[in-house]
Amino acid sequence: MEDYYDLIIVGAGITGSALSFVASRYSSIKTILVIEKYDRIAPLNSDSKNNSQTLHFGDIETNYTLEEAAHTKASAERVLKYSSLMPRSESSRIISEVQKMVLAVGDEEAERIDKIYSKGMRKLFPGLRKLGRKELAKIEPNTVKGRDPSETVSALLSDKGYMVNFGLLAKSFYKRAKSKGVKFIFNCRCLTANPIEDGHEIITNKGSFKGRFVIFASGTYSLYFAKKLGYDRNLSILSVGGGFYVAPRVLNGKVYRVQAGGIPFAAIHADPEITNPKITRFGPTVSFPLSLEVREKGTTLDYLRTFDFDIPTIQSLFNIIGNKDIRRIMRKNMLYPLPIIGKPLFIKNEVSKIVPSLSPDKIRFDKNYGGIRPQIIDENKRFLSMGASKIRGNNIMFNITPSPGATSSLQSAIDDIVYMCTLLDIGIDERKIESELGAIDYKHLKEKINGHKQL
Ligand SMILES: Cc1cc2nc3c(=O)[nH]c(=O)nc-3n(C[C@H](O)[C@H](O)[C@H](O)COP(=O)(O)OP(=O)(O)OC[C@H]3O[C@@H](n4cnc5c(N)ncnc54)[C@H](O)[C@@H]3O)c2cc1C
Repeated sequence: MEDYYDLIIVGAGITGSALSFVASRYSSIKTILVIEKYDRIAPLNSDSKNNSQTLHFGDIETNYTLEEAAHTKASAERVLKYSSLMPRSESSRIISEVQKMVLAVGDEEAERIDKIYSKGMRKLFPGLRKLGRKELAKIEPNTVKGRDPSETVSALLSDKGYMVNFGLLAKSFYKRAKSKGVKFIFNCRCLTANPIEDGHEIITNKGSFKGRFVIFASGTYSLYFAKKLGYDRNLSILSVGGGFYVAPRVLNGKVYRVQAGGIPFAAIHADPEITNPKITRFGPTVSFPLSLEVREKGTTLDYLRTFDFDIPTIQSLFNIIGNKDIRRIMRKNMLYPLPIIGKPLFIKNEVSKIVPSLSPDKIRFDKNYGGIRPQIIDENKRFLSMGASKIRGNNIMFNITPSPGATSSLQSAIDDIVYMCTLLDIGIDERKIESELGAIDYKHLKEKINGHKQL
């Protein structure tokens, strides 16, 4: 089978689905193909069971800089704007309001959130407010019940948080893209890609397809393909697995913990489960599985291919392991999924900080939840990068999407489609994007495409 498309997207998680939606609704790109190796939309990290379902704004994520928080906020607001385009009956299944907070336990953490709050967060997030023990006891009683009265506890609270079923959000993008003529092929695995005169040829188990422009939205696999095509040897991936413990609903909203700055993954937090209001999830735990998919054993070789076994990468690994916060996280988290000792340790180190009175028989590790965050090792920085990364090649792009990749899916899709249309001189309805999804951040885009054709 041989077909030629203006745009081929590889992967139908939330990144690929958002791309198909933005391309089909706002641009004049005529023929679009999405291929997905499994039999449905969002089978992996974008599935609601596999992530924390948080629409990240950067207000309760103490590991973000102010700049990262502002950018994350803008990305999250696009998702809210998109959801307001849907009928209420549809959006209410995808996104719900929920209160959220970052909880500080002990004097050191309390001082940290005080500093963060007064250093600009208050201005960026006017809805954020400080809570002491007394107010906490009213708003989130189980964070205080059973706690040592001499232990300092405080929080930054936002009444307006959101939990999102990102799998359903991806399906809603898919539905709209399909109605605009985008072609989706499932059970279609990209094996490799080759440059051709007018784009790339994608070789799959279902034949080959030619595309003028190709975007890999293949999650943990994007870097694998970038390297296969000879792009960017300055990045590697640290596969960070994230699992979850589940308990009956013990909290009213999302309770995040204080996280050391510069560490790209969040400390263990507690979240209500959007698909089951009777459950609170605790996680994600942190593991290093040497694979690209949690439930697919045969991905270790592929994972190793995303790695540059060179001096800068090895130095980066030493720096990562040498970081005392990461070492502490690694030491504790390695043990959490283990039978017998895992649960008591998890309760002592993590759960008791959030819900001190939760009894051990109420909580269990659930193997059905969890995914992989492809954390980027930047060999130039010799450390882990925060957030997502894009590699742009010649009429081809690769999106590598650790957390908060689901929150930034629409932002990322707008960046990519505006970039592609500018490069290939294809029409794009910027006004419609701006009126429906918010202003296009050209400064940010320019920085991102530096070195390629400028906007
Ligand atoms: C534990 C955990 C908690 C998280 N919490 C949050 C959160 O609260 N908020 C948030 O915003 N983000 C969160 N994230 C991050 C978020 O889940 C991801 O960034 C997002 O789902 C990535 O979407 P994606 O479409 O890029 O990747 P995926 O969902 O992994 O999709 C990639 C797709 O590409 C397909 N594919 C791969 N290889 C091929 C191939 N060869 N051929 C065809 N198809 C292929 C895959 O089958 C898959 O469907 C979390 C992640 C984890 C693991």
